[in-house]
Amino acid sequence: MKSGCVSREGKKQRSIELPVFQNPPVQESGIRKSRTTRWRVAALIILNLLMIAHIIQWRIMGNTISPIEPSETMSTLQQGAINAGFIFFALAILATLIFGRFVCGWGCHIVALQDFCAWMLKKVGLTPKAFRSRLLVYVPLIGALYMFVWPTVYRVFSSPEQGALVPKFTNHLVTSTFWETFPSVSVAVPFLFVCGFMTVYFLGSKGFCTYACPYGGFFSIADKLSPGKIRVTDACNQCGHCTATCTSNVLVHAEVKQYGMVIDPDCMKCMDCISVCPNDALYFGFGKPAVAIPKSNATKKSYSLTWPEEIIGAVVFLGSFLAVRGVYELVPFLMALGCATITTFLTLKTWRLLRAKELSFYRFDLKSSGRIRKAGWGFLSFAVVWIGLNAHSGWVRYHEYEGDSAFQKIHIPDELALAQSNPSPWLSQIDRENIIDGKKHFQAASNVGLFVNSEALSKLAWFEYLSGDAEQSVRLLGQAAPHQQGQAKALSLYYRGTILNRLGRYEQARTSLDQALAERADLILAREEKGESLWQLGRKGEAISVWSDAVQRNARIVLANNQLAGAAALLGRSEEAIAYEKQADQFTPDDPFYHWMIGLRLQNLGMNELAEKHFQRAIQLDPGFQARRKVGPQ
Ligand code: SF4
Ligand code: SF4
Ligand code: SF4
Repeated sequence: MKSGCVSREGKKQRSIELPVFQNPPVQESGIRKSRTTRWRVAALIILNLLMIAHIIQWRIMGNTISPIEPSETMSTLQQGAINAGFIFFALAILATLIFGRFVCGWGCHIVALQDFCAWMLKKVGLTPKAFRSRLLVYVPLIGALYMFVWPTVYRVFSSPEQGALVPKFTNHLVTSTFWETFPSVSVAVPFLFVCGFMTVYFLGSKGFCTYACPYGGFFSIADKLSPGKIRVTDACNQCGHCTATCTSNVLVHAEVKQYGMVIDPDCMKCMDCISVCPNDALYFGFGKPAVAIPKSNATKKSYSLTWPEEIIGAVVFLGSFLAVRGVYELVPFLMALGCATITTFLTLKTWRLLRAKELSFYRFDLKSSGRIRKAGWGFLSFAVVWIGLNAHSGWVRYHEYEGDSAFQKIHIPDELALAQSNPSPWLSQIDRENIIDGKKHFQAASNVGLFVNSEALSKLAWFEYLSGDAEQSVRLLGQAAPHQQGQAKALSLYYRGTILNRLGRYEQARTSLDQALAERADLILAREEKGESLWQLGRKGEAISVWSDAVQRNARIVLANNQLAGAAALLGRSEEAIAYEKQADQFTPDDPFYHWMIGLRLQNLGMNELAEKHFQRAIQLDPGFQARRKVGPQ
């Protein structure tokens, strides 16, 4: 393509001279095959096999090294949890600062997927064409700042007293909950399809890396600073084979001519260009980093969009991202970025399809002589369905967001609400309004939703419980749990078990609490409740053993110590009772609501003497609680 060519849409586009495609063109078959590709493929296959082996080892042994995944760095920055993902990401950035972006080219499973997809497309005669946007290239960096910098800034400024810049570090290198931070398989498969395949088909061989991957945002900055670069000797004759081979859309021949090296941070050091160069003019070597080189206009890339389209594209991207991110509690951040890039491409291409006289995509004529062709109708149909699904997700997400905002505004502490079967008298006017509002939005979301949003169901269950419909709450939590995993599932089952206890359905409560503990053995609240179910069922010895287990896991746990004290007192073991009571008192916060909650829980168990002590302490701390004795729930 020659400089200043006219595209099929009739728009003048900037380009740079690429001799390999000059007239008469050198066929791609005239370019020698890259010998490094097979090594890179081998490295990526080994990487994927190691990932599978890691999962199998965890499934067999129950414990393993925490996920070697850069996103885990978020919990290091937020909570100080040092994990394998953080160490890997830190080392990868350090390596990139020295050698350039090798980790991307040789050590990323998403790049393996993208390369596999590009290879498959080529097999059917479709060569992915790069979609070039000036604005969307900033998405990875913005995504990286949002993921890795914003949480720390927010923590420090939202709570200056507690939010230290450097959190207190704890060791999380080994884990038994390996999959906890990953999506379920039913989400992982579409995630890989969208990020590894669709982005390649629509946006080019490295579509996800260029427009979506937040890790790439940091890697490309590190690459700019790195002295390790693809460099050139005098043997270069500007044949263009290197550029034609590069799947990262780097203008290799132009950059090496202008700068003596590849400065484009999209270069993933795959080494293909070195391997295919007929004059062996390229090599990997150290020298000045890209930032130290003044930029020239001679190597400017052509772009797929006009400036107005860029701006519309940015707005569409943002809208689509907000619409799909977290919808149904299913779409994770990276997948939302991938979806938004595709929505942006489809919207802008559809816009052109409707306006241009001629338009093609790959080898397909979408429109010619002003008429939309068969392929065009196919493209249009797909685009309408995709964009329509985005808009629908946006509607559902809006209701989920509003429902969640109402949920966040509820003031009544969970423990107090759960201490009796009807917490209604404890609700403030604001709580009541938020419950009505939240229910309305969650119900609207679930009426039109295409999938079950298990988290929204759990929150709706909480609204139902607070508004006095404990039965409906139990039903909703029962529906939510099968769609959840890990901690979320354990919590739904715990709340369900607790509410069943309050309803007097102790056997069902025990089953639900056992299921919660099977998910998360460290959920001490579930042990306290399970002890309560067993006590009510008359299995007092088992109840005491469950409470003792809770106390052994955490000696500072107040309720279980009180439950053990009450049990010992009822069984006539007064010394034991005094010891547990002392232990509990040491850690009981001087909060009237807390004392009242403990009093209610002990009263449920018939431990009235100890319950009375806590009611009296609550009244002492806040005389207003005296009135609760007459009107409040008992
Ligand atoms: S930019 Fe992201 S997806 Fe692409 S290779 Fe690098 S880490 Fe992998
Ligand atoms: S570096 Fe090699 S492949 Fe690239 S333009 Fe020069 S001679 Fe051709
Ligand atoms: S410039 Fe060369 S090393 Fe870099 S991505 Fe392209 S082909 Fe690979």
